[in-house]
Amino acid sequence: MAFGQQRIEYKTIEQMRIMHRSGLILDAALKTTIAAAVPGITTGELDAIFAAELKKAGATSNFLGYYDFPASICTSVNEEVVHGIPGPRVLKTGDLLSIDGGAIVEGWHSDSARSVIVGGPEHEDPADRRLSDITEESMWRGIAAMAGAKYVGDIGDAIDDYVTSQPGPELGILEDYVGHGIGSAMHMPPDVLNYSSKHRGPKLKPGMCLALEPMLVRGGLETVTLQDDWTVVTADKARAAHWEHSVAVHAKGIWVLTAVDGGAERLAPWGVTPVPLD
Ligand code: MG
Ligand code: MG
Repeated sequence: MAFGQQRIEYKTIEQMRIMHRSGLILDAALKTTIAAAVPGITTGELDAIFAAELKKAGATSNFLGYYDFPASICTSVNEEVVHGIPGPRVLKTGDLLSIDGGAIVEGWHSDSARSVIVGGPEHEDPADRRLSDITEESMWRGIAAMAGAKYVGDIGDAIDDYVTSQPGPELGILEDYVGHGIGSAMHMPPDVLNYSSKHRGPKLKPGMCLALEPMLVRGGLETVTLQDDWTVVTADKARAAHWEHSVAVHAKGIWVLTAVDGGAERLAPWGVTPVPLD
């Protein structure tokens, strides 16, 4: 996403509270969808489950119709990195599935993604488990950095430092796709890089809401967009994982809008206590 001269949108505490409602509906819908991601189900059926959950909760989808995207979630399997279109594909044991979804409540957006390995722990390729776990933890490390960050660029430093310091086979951080501001639209400035850059980005200030979404791969960083004009795959067919949360920065601290506990459990090991929006 390139945002040109668009300005950063600073939210009031009331606006962030509505985003929180959107985020909690999204979190619940994603959990229900992930629980249904068993061998034999199609990605199209998962999309229908997610859409029904949003509807039941009184929220609408920010994915459906976005540049004509035909579904309420993206389902990206194995070498697919992001923007996979749900359809007739049947999930198999051992598939590495990333589900990315979003919700709108009263005009305010949320955005979150999780990766899951289909079929249960006994069927997991340990290398896929490691990929997903490091991707998820790098996201939490980035969120933790937000609590004390001066610039948005500090987030990318934290994610990059975490990933590159892991023992074992090296994982790649995709640079073609980055996180973003979120609020009255799903994708807003600023860009939130998942890697270290000399470009520090804007200062991190109260009222900012950011979607952090590292995408990691077991192979090279080159990606290709398929003929459907959406699905992004790794050029070398190596597997990818994607995790994302929407996070608010307010006067008293940070709060993860798309997690029931605001991120408390996963941020504790990093010495960060999220502060509720009240
Ligand atoms: Mg997303
Ligand atoms: Mg996003």
